[in-house]
Amino acid sequence: MSENGSSVHRVVIIGSGPAGWTAAIYASRAELDPVCVIGVPRQDPSPVLPGGQLMLTTDVENYPGFPEGVSGPEMMDMFQKQAERFGTKVVNEDVQSCDFSSRPFKLKLGSGEEMLAHSVIIATGATANWLGLENELRLATGGGGVSACAVCDGALPIFRDQHLAVVGGGDSAMEEATFLTKFASRVSVIHRRDSLRASKIMQERYLSQPNAEVVWNKTVVDVLGDERITGVVLEDTVTGERSEMEVAGLFIAIGHTPATKFIEDAGIELEDTGYIKLGGHSSATNIDGVFAAGDVADSEYRQAITAAGMGCMAALDAERWLGAKGL
Ligand code: NAP
Repeated sequence: MSENGSSVHRVVIIGSGPAGWTAAIYASRAELDPVCVIGVPRQDPSPVLPGGQLMLTTDVENYPGFPEGVSGPEMMDMFQKQAERFGTKVVNEDVQSCDFSSRPFKLKLGSGEEMLAHSVIIATGATANWLGLENELRLATGGGGVSACAVCDGALPIFRDQHLAVVGGGDSAMEEATFLTKFASRVSVIHRRDSLRASKIMQERYLSQPNAEVVWNKTVVDVLGDERITGVVLEDTVTGERSEMEVAGLFIAIGHTPATKFIEDAGIELEDTGYIKLGGHSSATNIDGVFAAGDVADSEYRQAITAAGMGCMAALDAERWLGAKGL
């Protein structure tokens, strides 16, 4: 099929985490000749990689089928190989913007090239949140010792045998903090409440380490240090009292924001939380022929396995939609 000489893809998948690759596996097995636009690596200020958040994860122990666990990057590599085995075409670019106002849909790539598609599956996931403090962001680049990814940066020599802090109280904070206990002399999880949000097993794994502690009811209100972090200023969320804590590294693990910037003018309806709004038990968005899957459309579960399940749903929905349109 072609329009003005350019071929129109039946389905373009944007994103390459568990949702994107699963959509690609299903769409390619359905002989829809899918194209998967996987994104390019960037610093934001921590790494954002094709393959998504699992590229920054150590062991995945809760994905069925891997009784011994599997590393996140290894798992994404397997997903990609499985999708390519059935003919998925991989494009190593970012989608910068989408025009869903006429058909076929037009996707503008980072190279400036335009890609045409009858249907689109958005599976761009989410990226790490920052506290938003001026000194936090300044020291998050160029080896300043502030990071949103312990798994990427925690093993660096500057953090060895040092006192390190992790902000957050969820599973990510526990995972990052547990990882850091292997290298640090002491790890302090700084949490704004008096109980953790993290699952019991992750809490226990962290708290069973001899060099692990939790600093309760505190927020980080400033980060100290010129070239490199030397400490943080804490504020007690109950008394409002301020104090300083010396640390040689600060890891932010306070959740994620869905990656939807490239569709901000494309008319896709979002939830109040910024996640893509889906129509009931379906992957359909408000635009006919545009589907969404994974963390970009899921503020609730955000697991590799749920993202993969949503990717499957999106491919099946796209296949049925294309069939109904005779495409
Ligand atoms: P999350 O569950 O949303 O937890 C975010 C944490 O950061 C919460 O404790 C929250 O505090 C705190 N927080 C948020 N904004 C803050 C701010 N501005 N200042 C200070 N603290 C702030 O996010 P997550 O830990 O990234 O986990 C996301 C999902 O991934 C979850 O479903 C989780 O189970 C899953 N996950 C699973 C694994 C695993 O099983 N291996 C690993 C990582 C993540 P409050 O508690 O006060 O809201």
